[in-house]
Amino acid sequence: MSSPCGFSPALLREVLPAIDREAAATDQDGAYPAAGVAALHRIGLLAAPLHGLGTAPEGADGLALALRLIGRASLPLGRLYEGHVNALRLILRHGTRDQIALGAADARDGHLFAIWNTDDARAPVRLDGEVLSGRKVLCSGAGFVRRALITAEEERGAGPVLLLLPLRPGEGADLSGWQPLGMRASASGAVDFTGMPAPPQRRIGAPGAYARQPDFTAGGWRFAAVQCGGIEAVLEALRSHHRRTGRGSNPHQAARLGQAAIAAEGARLWVQAAARRAESGAPDAVAYTNLARTAVERAALDVLELAQRSIGLAGFMRGHPLERIARDLSTYLRQPAPDAALTEAGSHVLDTAAEAGDLWA
Ligand SMILES: Cc1cc2nc3c(=O)[nH]c(=O)nc-3n(C[C@H](O)[C@H](O)[C@H](O)COP(=O)(O)OP(=O)(O)OC[C@H]3O[C@@H](n4cnc5c(N)ncnc54)[C@H](O)[C@@H]3O)c2cc1C
Repeated sequence: MSSPCGFSPALLREVLPAIDREAAATDQDGAYPAAGVAALHRIGLLAAPLHGLGTAPEGADGLALALRLIGRASLPLGRLYEGHVNALRLILRHGTRDQIALGAADARDGHLFAIWNTDDARAPVRLDGEVLSGRKVLCSGAGFVRRALITAEEERGAGPVLLLLPLRPGEGADLSGWQPLGMRASASGAVDFTGMPAPPQRRIGAPGAYARQPDFTAGGWRFAAVQCGGIEAVLEALRSHHRRTGRGSNPHQAARLGQAAIAAEGARLWVQAAARRAESGAPDAVAYTNLARTAVERAALDVLELAQRSIGLAGFMRGHPLERIARDLSTYLRQPAPDAALTEAGSHVLDTAAEAGDLWA
């Protein structure tokens, strides 16, 4: 059945086994899940944000499900698709009619969009007139993605400008520094923009559009949804291990499996509630998302520990499903400013007039 936003969960479930196999096969530095991106294009997911998936309130549940399912099969692909949705959302929100039409045509043609914000501290990206200089790091899809939204500072600027750049394959990309524990196939390398032109028609919205609140922080529910898919993959690896080895009925093992199931379901409920709150523009969406991402991170760390203690050393051997997923998930859990996210939510709780029990009613 298709959701109102051009997303069919049934079609996505059909392509997940191939995405899962590709995730295992591309667990290498410099790799990129090209077949997975093509599959998402085939089933309409690259264009679905144009129909409201992650870009309109009625697309909240659908995107939460899509991100969880993709993340369950491949955290690197989930990361890439999350960036695609975010980039299209920014273009739809802040772009001119022509920019939106061009972006929509590209998405329909199968282009994956990226959003790259993190600067190389030694050479932050700057825009002088119409020419760029500097490098971004942690650019998922570096060298592969052909449409990138990037932030750039201008002299005496009123916040960073957002630029939509067409890129040639490999242009400016350097994957040599991307040698992480996990998420290897997200190709999150550096990109050097020095000398690249950025004429006015490449600017999306007013300066500061990228980090405009509440969208910027509340959008954190999307990475939490992908992480939630990773938690579900760990739970599946644990359950399969018990079924295979016949150890699951041991009371200690059964208790740990039960605790892992509680954590996974808690994460799913947080993600779903945060998605609805953020996408409907609720005034407390920032605080709620900050709680949700913190709860999902905790759930992930708990489920990883439970699975590793339950499976034991076998789960640390290359080739065991848990081994790669645990590396991918623990790497992808590292998101910006987790301490600030929790303390912001704590301040909200402290300062809100409603009774504590009615805070989110
Ligand atoms: C797989 C992957 C893909 C990514 N892809 C992209 C991408 O495509 N585009 C993009 O823009 N970014 C991307 N990123 C980067 C991401 O957006 C974050 O920048 C990054 O994950 C932050 O992680 P961190 O642990 O370094 O965070 P940090 O915020 O540095 O947190 C590390 C620790 O320091 C603490 N801390 C933070 N600030 C301070 C402070 N001022 N003083 C004291 N302590 C502090 C935190 O609370 C935490 O304990 C990606 C990240 C990953 C893992």
